[in-house]
Amino acid sequence: MQRTGGVGQLTAPAGTEAPGSHPVVIAVPKETAAGEQRVATVPEVVQKLVKAGHAVRIEHDAGTAAYYPDALYTAAGATVVSGRHELFSGADIVLFVQPPTVDDVAELPEGTIAVGFMNPTRNLDAISRMRDRKITAFALELVPRITRAQSMDALSSQATAGGYVAAVLGANNCPKFLPMLTTAAGTIRPATVLILGAGVAGLMAIATAKRLGALVEAYDVRRAAGEQVRSLGAKFLELEINAEGQGGYARELTAEEKVKEQEMVSAAVARADIVITTAAIPGRKAPVLVTKETVATMKPGAVIIDMAAESGGNCELTQAGKTVREHGVMIIGPQNLPARVPFHSSQMYAKNLQAFLGLLFTKEGALVTDYADEILKASLLVHAGTVTYQPAADLLKGGKA
Ligand code: NAD
Repeated sequence: MQRTGGVGQLTAPAGTEAPGSHPVVIAVPKETAAGEQRVATVPEVVQKLVKAGHAVRIEHDAGTAAYYPDALYTAAGATVVSGRHELFSGADIVLFVQPPTVDDVAELPEGTIAVGFMNPTRNLDAISRMRDRKITAFALELVPRITRAQSMDALSSQATAGGYVAAVLGANNCPKFLPMLTTAAGTIRPATVLILGAGVAGLMAIATAKRLGALVEAYDVRRAAGEQVRSLGAKFLELEINAEGQGGYARELTAEEKVKEQEMVSAAVARADIVITTAAIPGRKAPVLVTKETVATMKPGAVIIDMAAESGGNCELTQAGKTVREHGVMIIGPQNLPARVPFHSSQMYAKNLQAFLGLLFTKEGALVTDYADEILKASLLVHAGTVTYQPAADLLKGGKA
């Protein structure tokens, strides 16, 4: 089935099958990135897709690392197949967690719809190949953060998983108890946990550290975050700055604001036993909030979990994927924290995808014939030989591919 739309128009594939003539084939590969344990769909969601009349194909062992064995998918009505070739051939939609690799794109039939995280400004090689192979790709990073799209917000679901793991990782590497204890062997003071950046991941880290009994402090440049922090029972560190930018995200601070921020943050970092940093500005390098001089003022045994490690790090000493020890402080730069709770992060991701797929089908279960829906339009990355997401198109025009 060849599916092409007009170049530059948000039209879905011509030749959409009439309902009932051919079920839409949804394929789910086994993720191949190092350390990736998640899977793009789970048996519970497969059952719903099959009930809606679609055919679901799963690559052998796709869910094994997330503790969803093949047998559960089969019981839910999916067909388990061996190898990419068998999986992709004749597939209408392919669901990914990590962006498809160049090799995967080479195997996708022309006109296939790929949905998943696409790393839309960095994964340029694969994006240009998808353009050349006339793949239609939707990037979950581009789903607008509007109320109607909340159920499809995979950035939030995975940040929730990441924030939880960061707090547990901090507790696990801290040489102290987190809760206050009154015992026959004396009274133990609670540990202090500082969260820098109180977005989705930060709020989950706050909630988790509070449940473990720590004293929790948090800071964010967006003043609106203060109310959410306080509602979780944590202390919000106030600075006379409000850097709320467009769409609820933070804007970059001015040079003067950065100095003020540094002073306040450094004092809080010095008194913390665990620091969890989550500060990010979309599309830019993460802001440095903890300098190497500040690390030198920390207590021996203190732990930093830098959730921004992959985008440059919030701590100057962070190395992505590594643990660095300086001045008796452990600085952990974890990568892909959601993959460490693969059962639930996959479940949440699969439900996000199920909701997103709802936009791609008509009531009768056929593929929609246009991508005019606000959410589809915003998240469309590549379609019919055109890179439709302008920042990626501009980068490609800049001479990369
Ligand atoms: P993010 O991952 O881009 O950033 C994490 C946090 O870092 C943000 O809260 C940001 O303000 C903060 N930050 C940036 N620079 C900082 C600095 N210099 N110092 C301290 N903190 C800094 O953000 P996110 O968690 O994905 O979401 C951010 C916002 O989007 C929040 O307001 C959230 O409530 C909102 N949101 C809305 C929806 C929706 O309406 N559907 C869904 C998800 C998130």
